[in-house]
Amino acid sequence: MANDDLKALIRTIPNFPKPDIQFRDITTLLLSPTGVATAVERMVAATHSPVDLVAGIEARGFLFAAALAVPLNAGVLLIRKDGKLPGATIAEDYALEYGQDRIAIHADACAPGARVLLVDDLIATGGTARAAVRLLRKAGASVTQAQFLVDLPDLGGADALRAEDIQVDALVS
Ligand code: 5GP
Repeated sequence: MANDDLKALIRTIPNFPKPDIQFRDITTLLLSPTGVATAVERMVAATHSPVDLVAGIEARGFLFAAALAVPLNAGVLLIRKDGKLPGATIAEDYALEYGQDRIAIHADACAPGARVLLVDDLIATGGTARAAVRLLRKAGASVTQAQFLVDLPDLGGADALRAEDIQVDALVS
């Protein structure tokens, strides 16, 4: 399956979640057995160094984190919206267009030096992914790679993440 075929499985929903936003909806790709298998295979193939944990960002990032962790022989680390995790957490704030948001991980989720691959469905401005990298590094993790199904290059998030010494890969632009 070509990357253009993967792209064709993603639909655009205009004006979601608010007016003038073109939301890239990956649920249609997830419904395709070939689409989901191809996406996971390519993300695994793009992973160069050994990984101890695959960190997925809530909520669609969880799907890819779990799927990648099995062939990569890694564990899954959940990066959640603040207030969802039951144990002691560390958190990181990041700016939204209006206001701010906060993500968290369990404080004991990764051993110092653990090699963590960051995964999400999509990178736009990169605000979420950069906060995730700060959070993981605060916990002592070694984060050098991030993988996304979709990059929206006009919004500059992938380049901003690369500026933080992260190798960024995306299957579809
Ligand atoms: P960023 O922080 O890079 O601006 O936004 C990326 C985060 O918001 C990701 O967690 C992603 O799931 C979500 N997101 C933003 N825009 C879209 C979109 O058009 N489609 C999807 N599937 N997720 C989006």
